[in-house]
Parts: sequence; structure tokens; C-alpha cells
Amino acid sequence: MAIVYKFGGASVKDANGVRNVEKIVRMVEDDLMVVVSAMGKTTNALERVVELLDAGKEEQALSQWVDIIDFHVAVMKELGLQPGSDIRLQGEIPYDPTLPFDENYDQVVSMGEILSTQIIAVYLLKQGLSVEWWNMPKLLRTDNTWREAKVDDAVSASLIRAGWERAQRPQIVVTQGFIGGTADGKRTTLGREGSDYTAALLGNYLDAESVTIWKDVPGILNADPRIEANTVLIPSLRYQDAVELSYSGAQIIHPKTIRPLENKRIPLLVKPFGDPTAAGSRIAEDGVGPIDVPVYIWRKNQLLITMRAKDFAFVLEESLSEIFEIIHRHRLKVSLIQSSAVTISVCVDNTRFVNDAIEELKQHFNVTYNDHLSLLTIRGTTPEILDRAKDGRTVMLSQTTRRTARLVVKE
Ligand code: ASP
Ligand code: MG
Repeated sequence: MAIVYKFGGASVKDANGVRNVEKIVRMVEDDLMVVVSAMGKTTNALERVVELLDAGKEEQALSQWVDIIDFHVAVMKELGLQPGSDIRLQGEIPYDPTLPFDENYDQVVSMGEILSTQIIAVYLLKQGLSVEWWNMPKLLRTDNTWREAKVDDAVSASLIRAGWERAQRPQIVVTQGFIGGTADGKRTTLGREGSDYTAALLGNYLDAESVTIWKDVPGILNADPRIEANTVLIPSLRYQDAVELSYSGAQIIHPKTIRPLENKRIPLLVKPFGDPTAAGSRIAEDGVGPIDVPVYIWRKNQLLITMRAKDFAFVLEESLSEIFEIIHRHRLKVSLIQSSAVTISVCVDNTRFVNDAIEELKQHFNVTYNDHLSLLTIRGTTPEILDRAKDGRTVMLSQTTRRTARLVVKE
């Protein structure tokens, strides 16, 4: 049976990270599918390259690109690899000014994962492991919704299963998270932080025994340790609890990760890459729930849009369907909804799609909005916990049920 391991950018941010990957994969005897993100902050750096090119700042873009390549070359050298002979380096930026921004974005930004996986695959090979490098743009088939490509499960599953059957055993396959490709050979990306989702899809297609996400935290904690001082590890969760956590904005796993695993009852493990024998957290069919400690989840960079009727002919149901049609079409991600007799408020992620959506909403409603907001969700709250959370904060809106509180607060 296959085991799937996913290493995020933080776990492969330098040569030591790559050596640590070797140490961890050596502990496995089964066939292993290793899904890797771009190294460190490479994805952000590549995003800047596309933005600079789009703004016509070619020199700056090129120097940014050279920095990215240099960084990878330095890692290769530190690992004893020969840039140019062990790994072919792409000299030119895969950018075509005649194409739309989003299409260029996918061609350029996907290079981060291509580079990281080549380095890791060649390094492991040189350490004597039996490794295959797979190119997901040829195997994970998607449509051409650039930057948020939709995966064709039927085609992808059959390509990936066929590859898996063909490969030698015991084997380690090293491949990219976050990226796929269209039928006509263009690279696509699945949305930021999408590597977890790739790992889950591969787990599903291969009927994996388990999928493990290696992180820089001990597992799933009840709060972000960078924000809260006292955090506790949640050792066991049910799929539904994990879905709720990630949709509330818990950064720990990408929201799309759970469904493909739940469908096949495949356990998801979240473990610390610095301490590979630690148990971490396990999300599974037989997970323990509900979670019995208060959980704090911050969803940052929120925008609260309030729509008010332009006239007295306001029918809540009609307005709601109109609003959500617009919101959906503009690909906004809604984190909270509240309605009153004459207003509807929605909290959304403040993304690049927001302005166009607001313009369209303005044609139908009087629209006001606030930005620089965060949504704090507290699961397993009590009145005391809620008071403490509100203390010293400007609360724009709050929604509470018996066990869950949601506060939209100023950042
Ligand atoms: N490298 C991509 C990103 O930073 C995908 C991922 O890390 O999951 O968004
Ligand atoms: Mg990343």
C-alpha cells in the first residue's frame, strides 16, 4: 500500500531541510509518494516576478528571477549537486507578454515546485535511494482556470495509477504539490497553499494507507502558537472537525484536503518535521470528537461588506440570491453572513477579485465596506472566554451560538 508524505515550503527551506527529508523517508519501508512545495518563500518571490513583468519592469523582474535561481543553485551546491549537469536550469522566464496575466502566473509560479522537487529527487537518488521524479503537469489533469485550476479526477486518477503500477518497487516517487496541467500541456496551479490538496488527491487515487503532512508545529494545536502563548495539541480529530477548523481559517491544512481522504476513509496525520517519531495529530473516521478544548482560529485579511436596500421593495430572499450569485461569479470566499430587516453583511477574504464584485453589488444596493479586519472563531467558547477575547478589541460584528463565537475585529 502507498503512503503519502507532504513537505511544505518551511520544511524544505534550505539544504538542511532537504537532508531532513532524506532522514524521514528512510524511516519508511512501504512505497512512498512524496509531495513537495516550493522551497521557503519561493512562491511569493515568483509571484513578484510575474507582477514586475506585468508592470513592464523587465530588469527588476530578471534580477528577482536570478536571485531565485541563485538561491536554488546555492542549495544544490550545499547538497553536493552539480547545477547544470545534475539539474538543468531554466535560463529564461517562462513568460509570454501576449498571454493573460493569470496564465503567465501559472507558467512562472509553478517553477518553484519544479525546482524543489528536482533538487530533492536528485539528492535522494545520489544518497542511494531508488527514486522517480514525476512531473505533475503531465499527470494531474486540470482545466484552464488559471490560478485556481479544477482537477479532472477521472483522467488524473488513471494517469497516476498507471504510473504507480509501472514504477519499480520498493519505490519513492518525488513530485510537486500545488501544480497540474491542461490537456494541451500548459502548467496550472491549484490555488495558494494547494500542496496539501495535491497530497490528498494522490492519497485518494492510490488508496493510500495514510497521508502525512510534515509541518513546523507539533501537530494541530488549539491556537496559533505565534499568537497565543499557551497552546495544546489536539491528538485526535474527526474529519468533520478538521473541515470546520480549516474553513474557519486555521492555517494548518488547506480546506480542500479533507474531502478526498474522507471519501476513502484515509487517515490524515499532521506531524512535526523536526521530531519525526512524535505522534502529532491524527484525523480519521474514528477520531475523537467534538474537540474538548477551546479552539482559536484567526482568519486574517477580511473585508466586511454591508448591503443596504436602495428602496423599500427589499425582499431578503431575493436579495440574498442576487448577492450570492454575484459573489460566487467573482470567486469571493465568504467567511460569515449576517442579515437584518434591511441589510445584509458578508465577510469575505480580501482578494484581488473583491473590487469588481463590489462595483457590481453597487448597481443593486447601497454598499459600504470595512477592510483590515480579522475573523476570530472560537470553538468551545464560554462567556468568560468570549469576554477575554473581546477585551481591548474593536468588534465590528459578532455571532454566537452556544459553543461557537465568531467575532469580526479590527486588525
Ligand atoms: N508553494 C505553494 C504556495 O506557497 C503551494 C503550497 O505551499 O502549498 O502557495
Ligand atoms: Mg508554500
